Amino acid sequence: MSDAERLQAIDREIAGAIWVSDEPWKNLVYLCDVLGHRFAGSSQEHAAAEFLKQKMEAYGLAHVQLEEFPIATWERGPCTLILVEPFQRMLPAIAMPYCPSAAIEGEVVDVGEGELPDFERCRDVIPGRIVLTDAETNRPGERKSHRIDKFGWAIERGAIACLFVNQNPGQLHITGGLRGRGPRGVRADEAEAPIPGLGLSYETGMLLRRLAKQGTVRLRLETQNRTRDSVSYNVIGEIPGTTKADELILVGGHYDGHDISQGATDDAAGAVVGLEVGRVLAPLRGQLQRTVRILCFGAEELGLFGSWYHIEHHAQEHIRFMLNLDGAGRGLGGQEELRLSGWAELVPYFQQLGQQLAYPFGVRDDLNAHSDHFPFAVHGIPNGTLVSRDATAGMIGRGWGHTEADTLDKLSLRGVQLAAMLAARLVVRLSEDEAFPAQRRDLAAVRQQLADAGVLDELLASGRFPQA
Ligand SMILES: [Zn+2]
Repeated sequence: MSDAERLQAIDREIAGAIWVSDEPWKNLVYLCDVLGHRFAGSSQEHAAAEFLKQKMEAYGLAHVQLEEFPIATWERGPCTLILVEPFQRMLPAIAMPYCPSAAIEGEVVDVGEGELPDFERCRDVIPGRIVLTDAETNRPGERKSHRIDKFGWAIERGAIACLFVNQNPGQLHITGGLRGRGPRGVRADEAEAPIPGLGLSYETGMLLRRLAKQGTVRLRLETQNRTRDSVSYNVIGEIPGTTKADELILVGGHYDGHDISQGATDDAAGAVVGLEVGRVLAPLRGQLQRTVRILCFGAEELGLFGSWYHIEHHAQEHIRFMLNLDGAGRGLGGQEELRLSGWAELVPYFQQLGQQLAYPFGVRDDLNAHSDHFPFAVHGIPNGTLVSRDATAGMIGRGWGHTEADTLDKLSLRGVQLAAMLAARLVVRLSEDEAFPAQRRDLAAVRQQLADAGVLDELLASGRFPQA
């Protein structure tokens, strides 16, 4: 049997095993409906870790374990937002993770999209005021700033609070972790944010924006929350390789989510896609040369804590590729895209692989610092994130993600199956292809690349950039 024929036989086993099973859907029902949310450091997240571990054991993965690491978790208390000028009104709003307790009153300054030039334009009026900004900038195809960047710019310019406006209508509050006082944010005292950050619906944001155009808008904000030390877990299982067992292919997505929703699309779907890859590859043990490590990451939403912990404790390993699944398995399937992060030279390789697999998928390169691939990218490891392009069709940014509406009804079994098939087939090629054209980059080259992308300073401040 030729090599190509051998891989095709493996493909048939993978595709068949996935296509005739509703196992991933049952797993999603448990993670989303039964557990509810899986906020990092909460008892629900810990129950999810235990569930995923039991599944990996039942599927026959080897070396199954929970990798524990410290994090600061956060518990939401009451939050009220009251418009006091130009008239009195209660407004719906939620505190965002790591928001401190606070009771403040101040005038609103609307910075619009909240890109850096907007903050510069408003620099004289921001001190002592409450910043109102789009949570996500709506400019398809352009590199946009992240909520965390906007929050940082507000703090640096003396704002006393920051209000983030959801960009999708529907009375849905936007959420997302805030930047803490300390650059690393592992312990509670450094993880808590220096000023409050609240999530508003599109509709509330637009009301404030209209009022701010006409004159002074004053708000009173009261919220009580708690940031405390906790732990989270990466769930790990392997399919040991044969002749090159010390070379690894890593694949997986984060299983934690936000406390206001089920975190179905972000990212129970991706975690379950990874688990499904493990389920169908485990019986192929003895046929793959390199070791495949399935990872379900904890605490991604609060600052990529699981993926940072994993790479910092496995930096000496020979990791050939890291395939992140944050975004895989959403949508209806058949619209997958691989987003390489800092590996433009691999675009043709994966495009050609799509032809070979008779399953063309999108491929592009875009260095991005906001999911679990990034710590691996910082350590020079070739990496990409598999996403479903149709997942937010017609919506801005994350779509339902980071809102109350990120629930299981937004997913479909077929979407999960198609992503799992592609992910599993990619992993097999990454394991078996002797001509894989990329190697781990040295730290000097990574450093230059991160500096060019404007993300090096923050990494150096956090102490996350690896020492040579
Ligand atoms: Zn995510």
